[in-house]
Amino acid sequence: MNSEPAKIGVFVCQCGKNVGGVVDTEKVADAVKDSPNVVLSKVHPHLCSYEGLSVIQNDIEEHGIDRLVVAACTPKMHEKTFRDAAVGAGLNPHCLDIANIR
Ligand code: SF4
Repeated sequence: MNSEPAKIGVFVCQCGKNVGGVVDTEKVADAVKDSPNVVLSKVHPHLCSYEGLSVIQNDIEEHGIDRLVVAACTPKMHEKTFRDAAVGAGLNPHCLDIANIR
């Protein structure tokens, strides 16, 4: 069993103006960046895009993230998308949590 502390990465999606127009996403990301075990907290305009998923995967690998939090739309829309991206970067698919902020 791994006894290393968890390394949590938080990704906040703007969904263009769907979220970014009504939620201060930078403030959300800032609010959690100093929380225990959070190694990275950032905002992206479209996390479900190819580019957005690449950012997540690159950060997982670069920062050794082993717990993923995605603040975006309902899990009904993209839970599989983000789980697949996590697996693609070598993460356990169950180490993902999605917060619906849309
Ligand atoms: S992940 Fe969801 S909230 Fe983000 S851009 Fe895609 S549809 Fe919009």
